[in-house]
Amino acid sequence: MIPVTKPYLPNREKLDRYLDGIYERQWLTNNGQLVQELTRRLEEYLEVDNLLLVANGTLALQIAYRALGVSDSRSDQYPEAITTPFSFIATASSLKWDGVEPVFADIDSKTWCLNPENIEMAITHNTRAIVPVHVFGNACDVEAIDAIARKHTLKVIYDGSHAFGVKYKGGSLLEHGDAATLSFHATKLFHTGEGGAIVFKRKEDLERAKKMINFGITGPETIEELGINAKMNELQAAMGLCVLDEMEENLRARANVWQEYESALAQSLQFQAKHQALGYNYAYFPVLFENEEQTRRVLSVLKENGVLARRYFYPSLESVASLGVHPPQPVSGSISRRILCLPIFADLQKAEVQAISQYILETLER
Ligand SMILES: *Cc1c(COP(=O)(O)O)cnc(C)c1O
Repeated sequence: MIPVTKPYLPNREKLDRYLDGIYERQWLTNNGQLVQELTRRLEEYLEVDNLLLVANGTLALQIAYRALGVSDSRSDQYPEAITTPFSFIATASSLKWDGVEPVFADIDSKTWCLNPENIEMAITHNTRAIVPVHVFGNACDVEAIDAIARKHTLKVIYDGSHAFGVKYKGGSLLEHGDAATLSFHATKLFHTGEGGAIVFKRKEDLERAKKMINFGITGPETIEELGINAKMNELQAAMGLCVLDEMEENLRARANVWQEYESALAQSLQFQAKHQALGYNYAYFPVLFENEEQTRRVLSVLKENGVLARRYFYPSLESVASLGVHPPQPVSGSISRRILCLPIFADLQKAEVQAISQYILETLER
């Protein structure tokens, strides 16, 4: 079986050396040496400031909402945030879980990111934030979203779970918004097993979030804030440090897979339109089919041949009952019914990519 993604497993001896250090120090969590080291190294690698490591990418979103006051209760207002229906469930469910009503605005049919015109139409007097997703590592229209946020005094929290290392106009894409979050889940491009991070624009928001991830505790006898437990531990950081060391090899191998697919399929299938100023990270290989029937047919032919593509993202989130009742989002609905993400990981072989592409092309011709 060829899975849609595989966790990147770094050099084992190096990981062992980090574990030896953990055993010597007997320090497993609570802002340990390796968490501090990974924080510094990620800030340097990503070219960002104010990065906070947390236990996973969903808590990264929730801590960002809290630190920026999006979910604060005020008696006269039921908070809302405008977000995309075309994402992993956690983008919207984290809002709902925190008492913020997700309000969907439809995506752009080419970039698959939130369409700024639809954001503006969804704003009400209860709107507090915009939560866009740099979906599959593509850049949202950050300038337009920033202008809307300033005009209406809204916070912007980018779910950058797919955007690790993505460059935009010469800087990091993660520098846009009041905060941008990352997921370091095992299946992501860069991972710590489970883990995540928040990149804050302002230092004071980082400082508030630092207290929040450790129960609001600031000293042996002081509890300053309402907090929760969202700390990354030393074992996660050890994995991250090892994966980070091998990032260049990982990226190079993925870029090769990506280009191999592209040259085989570009004539026959529609791809995501990338922002022109983007430095892409080759994290995903999504393709769009003509209709749902064709999509299902390709999925089952691939499966018969031992290839596990995924309907990612399906369903469109406005149709998920636990998120409440929402109007249809036609563009997201249409794309989610016609999309497949093809297998992509560092040691996927060229011959495998060619075989997968061939199964798809043969199915389209039938
Ligand atoms: C993976 C992912 C998350 C959740 O991250 P976890 O680390 O699994 O909690 C959130 N949003 C998007 C877009 C993701 O892909």
